[in-house]
Amino acid sequence: MVKEYLNFDDLDPIDKDWFITETWCDYCDKADLGIMKPKLYRENGKEFIEGKCHKCWNTVITEVVIQHIKGEKPKW
Ligand SMILES: [Zn+2]
Repeated sequence: MVKEYLNFDDLDPIDKDWFITETWCDYCDKADLGIMKPKLYRENGKEFIEGKCHKCWNTVITEVVIQHIKGEKPKW
């Protein structure tokens, strides 16, 4: 499995904000703690954001699913 790193800054600013703030941390068992030093990469045809949890500094990985449609307004 090869990770292909992409440029996080190429994402839409709204998506960037969302990925940085709306995270889930397995270590803290909490959502929305936010991540630091986000990196975007592609592996097995899927894209992921990897960053460090603001609270515990563990690495948090979130799959990038750009899907802003569910009949709900985004929170930002
Ligand atoms: Zn955490």
